[in-house]
Amino acid sequence: MAMAARDGDGWVECRCGGKHWGKFGAAGLLLIRDSQVLLQHRAPWVHNGDTWGIPGGARDSHESFIEAALREAHEEVAITGDEIEILTECAEEHGIWSYHTIIARAKNLCDPIAANQESIEVRWVERDDVNSLALHPAFGKNWTQLQRVIQTLP
Ligand SMILES: [Zn+2]
Repeated sequence: MAMAARDGDGWVECRCGGKHWGKFGAAGLLLIRDSQVLLQHRAPWVHNGDTWGIPGGARDSHESFIEAALREAHEEVAITGDEIEILTECAEEHGIWSYHTIIARAKNLCDPIAANQESIEVRWVERDDVNSLALHPAFGKNWTQLQRVIQTLP
């Protein structure tokens, strides 16, 4: 398959009054394992840097949200689709923009690492401890709902 153009990078001025990253929306991968989730400590120089969030980024026009989340997760934490089992998808809808969190379970062979300069560290964090970290504001806002969804998963 030819490398398709990265055309999703850019800001969207949203009706909610906010400005969001990703011309075609954005997606992230929330990996779970037992009672833990995988969080990424974002580098200080990125937008909302020095906070904890999940790997993710802008979706390109030719991608599904799942494809975007997997591509970003591969770039940022070096995991591939065969190391995870996708369970469900949670969308934060803003009309002209949306953010999709793909929730997936890590298989045993899954061994994420901080794979590019955007992350300082990746860490498995107990779900109960997530709120004690300085969270990326967007992830922090969604975390309560995401946790509720995780609790309903088999
Ligand atoms: Zn918005």
